Amino acid sequence: MLEVKENIRGSTLKNKLYDLKLKPNTKSHITVNNDVCLLCQNRDCTIFCPSQVFTWSNIDEKLTVAYESCMECGACKMGCPLENIKYEHPEAGFGYIC
Ligand code: SF4
Ligand code: SF4
Repeated sequence: MLEVKENIRGSTLKNKLYDLKLKPNTKSHITVNNDVCLLCQNRDCTIFCPSQVFTWSNIDEKLTVAYESCMECGACKMGCPLENIKYEHPEAGFGYIC
């Protein structure tokens, strides 16, 4: 088992991760063009995103982006085969904060 070492302030990395809080912004930091999504074969974003931010509706023919759940891993900048996801880090004070 890995030993969790304390840093000079007496706080452990493990404790710091527990201290992170998610504060979603009221506007999305992720945008997509749904017209491009209509042409997409596999809708890879619904698979590779670890937070399941992207959901495709066959009824509405629309991609929903639940940006509030984003864990800021950055994978969507590379994962969309049609380069259709514009991702920016959340503004200061939003997203995962300490
Ligand atoms: S992978 Fe890209 S183009 Fe395909 S549905 Fe997702 S965002 Fe749209
Ligand atoms: S940054 Fe990561 S968690 Fe956020 S939407 Fe993209 S793939 Fe999903």
